[in-house]
Amino acid sequence: MEETINDMNRQLMLDANAVAGVFQEIFGAEMTAAPTECVHCGAEGEVGTLLAFTQAPGIVLRCPSCENVMIRITQTPNAFYIDARGAVYLRLAR
Ligand SMILES: [Zn+2]
Repeated sequence: MEETINDMNRQLMLDANAVAGVFQEIFGAEMTAAPTECVHCGAEGEVGTLLAFTQAPGIVLRCPSCENVMIRITQTPNAFYIDARGAVYLRLAR
């Protein structure tokens, strides 16, 4: 599976900073420096370091260490759907 990502999708990959505007709209905060942790491998880092795929239906953010999916964001005209089951946590400063 990692080879599939490397071979086929690297060209579609953007830095997660590319989705900073979407995070700003959802959380009302700058999220690229927010700490998070991967459920799959335990890697910790900032949201801005995640691998962002924005040409899927919605946005897919993958762990830069193990490349498993951490966060999915889908937008409809009326709502955001956020699937963050691949992240142990997302830390938002108060
Ligand atoms: Zn990981």
